[in-house]
Amino acid sequence: MNLLEKELTYPLGDTLPETGKKLELSPGVYWIRMALPFALNHINLWLLRDHFEGVDGWCIVDCCLDSPDSRAHWEQIFENSLEGFPVVRVLATHMHPDHLGLAHWLCKRWQVPLFISATDYHTARTLVATPDERHSDQAVAFFKAHGLVDPVVYEALSDRKLQFGHMVPALPSQFVRIMDSQVLRIGDNDWHCISGYGHAPEHIALHCPALNVLISGDMVLPRISSNISVYDSEPLADPLRLFLTSLTRFAHLPADCLTLPSHGKPFTGLHQRIAQLIDHHDKRLEELKAALAANNLSAVDAMSVLFTRQLDAHQTTFAIGEALAHLHYLWFGQEIERYQDEQHIYRFKPTAAMTHP
Ligand SMILES: [Zn+2]
Repeated sequence: MNLLEKELTYPLGDTLPETGKKLELSPGVYWIRMALPFALNHINLWLLRDHFEGVDGWCIVDCCLDSPDSRAHWEQIFENSLEGFPVVRVLATHMHPDHLGLAHWLCKRWQVPLFISATDYHTARTLVATPDERHSDQAVAFFKAHGLVDPVVYEALSDRKLQFGHMVPALPSQFVRIMDSQVLRIGDNDWHCISGYGHAPEHIALHCPALNVLISGDMVLPRISSNISVYDSEPLADPLRLFLTSLTRFAHLPADCLTLPSHGKPFTGLHQRIAQLIDHHDKRLEELKAALAANNLSAVDAMSVLFTRQLDAHQTTFAIGEALAHLHYLWFGQEIERYQDEQHIYRFKPTAAMTHP
């Protein structure tokens, strides 16, 4: 446990759900944990007791990515944990592969609808339909323009196993739109949708006032900070500002609300954690400003300022996206400006106003 985690409380201690089994967290709210083949080695999924269109059953919240292992794990859950009830609907907090990958399989297997934000559904459909090579060429040009020269990373970019279409091979051809402020009746409880931006196009967290439970998805994680990246598909994005603004949407929730994150363990201390996340990004912005006062920086330079540990090729692409998110925050906040150098690499420097106060 790190120092910041000591400000949080894990009501279940180190207890984790057993493989293939669910663990009850609150009446009708259960935790499932599945393995992921990344540095981030697991994802939390949730089973909610539901009653939908006249049928008693289960609502699955988040799906895991599509792989033989995750399908087999779901089969174990169906065998051991459904208490004889069917799955009646599937909900995805957002479109990232670990959350959405198996939605097509789950929805087809149970003949049930997928609930997801329209933005994430359509973004995922576009990525599933986009030929990988084209996507990859655009990504290579993007990383080059931001100062990357490492051929290993370019190889990683073309690694099929890491591409969206590999982890999310298909999507249900229909969906049910969920959006901010909507109230979803799931089983005996109302769940309030809270939209969040900056991590995914339109992430939906779910708060149940009666149970005092928040399914925070990837918007608030207890141990790590969510990846906030500028991607080649939206090169002029300002996702860090969107993310920090989105965190204010959780300010009205009760301080003792049990928060169910997609990675890590269920915890209380939501507002402490949000304050820590804001502080984390503030510190990184300050580090970058200090470095920019000495040198003009490309995104790759900024990455070396922010990430001092050794990164593999896959992590490097995320780290550049994340460094760029911080640079763009300062750029759109008019604290720095962007130009292209003789090699056509984008560099950032303090604005004239900042160098001559
Ligand atoms: Zn995510």
